[in-house]
Amino acid sequence: MRDWPGWPEEVAERYRQRGYWAGETFSAALHRWAARSGERTALIDGERRISYAELLDQSLRLAQGLHGLGMRPRDRVIVQLPNMAEFVVAWFALQHLGAVPVHAMPAHRRSELMHLAELSGARAYLTVDTFNGFDHRDLADSLVAARRQAAEPLELVVVVGEAGEHDAHSYTDLLGNEPFAEPGEATASEDLALLLLSGGTTGLPKLIPRTHDDYLYNARCSAAACGMHPDTVFLTPLPIAFNYSWCCPGALSVLEVGGSVVITRDPSPMSCLDLVAAEKVTSLTLNPPLANLFVQEIEEEPDAYDLSSLEVVGVGAARLSDAVAPRVEEAFGATLQQVFGMAEGLICYTALDDSAELRWSTQGVPMSPADEIRVVDTETGRPVAAGEQGELLTRGPYTLRGYYRAPEHNQIGFTEDGFYRTGDVVRQLPSGHLVVVGRVKDHINRGGEKIPAPEVEGHLLAHPGIEQAALVGVPDALLGEKPVAVLRCVGPVLSVKEVAEHLRGRGLAAYKIPDRVEVVETMPLTPVGKIDKAALLAGISEAVDV
Ligand code: AMP
Repeated sequence: MRDWPGWPEEVAERYRQRGYWAGETFSAALHRWAARSGERTALIDGERRISYAELLDQSLRLAQGLHGLGMRPRDRVIVQLPNMAEFVVAWFALQHLGAVPVHAMPAHRRSELMHLAELSGARAYLTVDTFNGFDHRDLADSLVAARRQAAEPLELVVVVGEAGEHDAHSYTDLLGNEPFAEPGEATASEDLALLLLSGGTTGLPKLIPRTHDDYLYNARCSAAACGMHPDTVFLTPLPIAFNYSWCCPGALSVLEVGGSVVITRDPSPMSCLDLVAAEKVTSLTLNPPLANLFVQEIEEEPDAYDLSSLEVVGVGAARLSDAVAPRVEEAFGATLQQVFGMAEGLICYTALDDSAELRWSTQGVPMSPADEIRVVDTETGRPVAAGEQGELLTRGPYTLRGYYRAPEHNQIGFTEDGFYRTGDVVRQLPSGHLVVVGRVKDHINRGGEKIPAPEVEGHLLAHPGIEQAALVGVPDALLGEKPVAVLRCVGPVLSVKEVAEHLRGRGLAAYKIPDRVEVVETMPLTPVGKIDKAALLAGISEAVDV
């Protein structure tokens, strides 16, 4: 049995015939881009300039090195690298081999990586020696040890930087090989190209299978919707491993049109705004909290930065407040483009020539003419009347038909006719634009970083002093939402510090750790006996003051 359900054959055929799926792999695409733009700059990372020809050459050399270590088509590889040119080189090296990068976020720790390794059956972990004071080689050792007895053990570790005393291969040494000579071997465009981690609609996060056909279409369609061109210079302070920064629009969209990607490890407004001026950035993407910080910085120092090269500022990953939207355009002197979408597929953009009202108060329209959407009543599942709010369902040429190795969840996460239940509550305007008004799914959106509540609750319940736990998102002026843990304790009441220590000790990423702890005597329950989070939220009235 396949590890994931693809599109029905007649639907796939239609997508091919209409040209959405171009029948190309990412390895073939990079060869095409290098033939087209050879000497032009693909990547800018600090002082380093990497041309399209060099990107192809380095990725082929790394592919050969990895091949020599035994890496083969369809092997899954957890890639956890901060924003650096090596991420792009390594990603394409895996594509040449037909291996599958599993995108981990730089902030992920042992808990998340173990989950990724188990879910994906990863054979390898490609990472950096240390980043932000954290030693990824120690993490690699513990992953290898924990997976040693597994049916699909994690056997190979590759490190950018110093391998030190650890049982790991050096990225730099692997680059010393001859270029890989069998690009595309055994890989077809409908095969798995990458695995992304879902933000989670219910339960633990799942893996999202993306194919060469669908993800290349995503990159191309995004580039068109965002007005990208060969002179586009793209910058994002967000991790490039995010689906948003990698493809919506992201590095892959830029490479598709022949532009340049500026890579930075410093997300601070001052540093990024200096980069905009220095590299003549035309396209910048942010999430709402960063948009706020950038706008404040520009408003405070109106003459400090030359932003005249900027054409478009994209803001997405969480709801941008209608009040901040016009300030983004005013401060940057560029067109705001709202982005709403999900790693599962569907991406919506406001059009660059939409009216100010639509740009400032909607989250755009689906980017492909082949995207199908329905807005349905959350109780009955029936379509709501035009303009009413309801849950967004979608299917299309780049939206998954089911998660990776998750047959049971796939029964409930999708309708019988293949629509993905997004968990987002929207309303659609007569113009077709969507306005995101809330969600039915159980996650917290901390300024764009998704925290699956059931995952954190599972870790909380592992504490002997906690009998019941619920994680809820309370409103926050900067981040949109912040996580608060509501606990019923046995014995002494736990402090926020103790809870944080417990979660860190279990290897949880820092952004998932609650900012506040509320202890209750009894948990409110819904009529079916589940914890009533709406009631809890209503009870937690004042904002979190952290
Ligand atoms: P991810 O898969 O991590 O990109 O998360 C996707 C989810 O982020 C969506 O299902 C929405 O809940 C949320 N999201 C993304 N963009 C926006 C936006 N512009 N406004 C509101 N929510 C958003």
